[in-house]
Amino acid sequence: MNTGQFTTRATLLWATIPQEAREQILANVFCGICRDSVQIVKFTGEEDKGDVILKGPCAACGHTVVRVVEKSETDASRN
Ligand SMILES: [Zn+2]
Repeated sequence: MNTGQFTTRATLLWATIPQEAREQILANVFCGICRDSVQIVKFTGEEDKGDVILKGPCAACGHTVVRVVEKSETDASRN
């Protein structure tokens, strides 16, 4: 898995999410072109107000897709 470029804060938040949950998130990003949940590849990560914003090309069509991992998602998976 290529995690591309992450900001320091995004890396810290992303690290709090269990591997399994992360894979679920990465495999279920909505693509407006495919009109379906797709895998995101070569994504970058940014932190915004406690959320992690993942951005990268759709594995199927290459269109840039964005997945916001909300703070609640990282909190809920902590235990
Ligand atoms: Zn697509």
